[in-house]
Amino acid sequence: MQLNPYGEYAVLLAASLANDWPDDRAGIDARTRTFGMTMPFPERPDDHGATRRMIDQWLAVVDADDDGQRADLLNALMKRATAYPRLVDHDNEGWHLHYRDDDQTMPHVLRAVITVGTALHLTTRGMHRLGRCAAGEAPADPCRNVVVDITRNGRQRYCSVRCANRDAVRRHRARRAGPQVG
Ligand SMILES: [Zn+2]
Ligand SMILES: [Zn+2]
Repeated sequence: MQLNPYGEYAVLLAASLANDWPDDRAGIDARTRTFGMTMPFPERPDDHGATRRMIDQWLAVVDADDDGQRADLLNALMKRATAYPRLVDHDNEGWHLHYRDDDQTMPHVLRAVITVGTALHLTTRGMHRLGRCAAGEAPADPCRNVVVDITRNGRQRYCSVRCANRDAVRRHRARRAGPQVG
């Protein structure tokens, strides 16, 4: 996989897995292809479960209280996942960098790609550009989707137009209702 300078596709892949978790290993595999990964993974019985646990650890980075905690959590994940960077040329991708050893399992490869990609995204775009959909901050709103902010102005707060519209309607109603008394 080509990690572009912003780590964009790796972070978007992680968010996609978190927001729409595949039912089985084949679903994870298909998702990695959608986000530009080309190499096949050796199949292991626990790929589906182990990848889910990795995504849950990544979600702790998403939900970190501040930049320092976010960095600490991500550093801990990268320490377990990554090796020294190496130049590789496989599957007609052209020469690019891998941040891990060769011949790794699906969860291990995804952990390395996603953690390094997230670190690149945060350091180049901004430490705050990862979080949950703002619609979910309203009481009883069901959205818990991850938002990866790759916009130019850095103000993406919603996972989707639908969530942005729902929140806008809610705020409009709140304004019409006027200040709450009592
Ligand atoms: Zn590669
Ligand atoms: Zn949402």
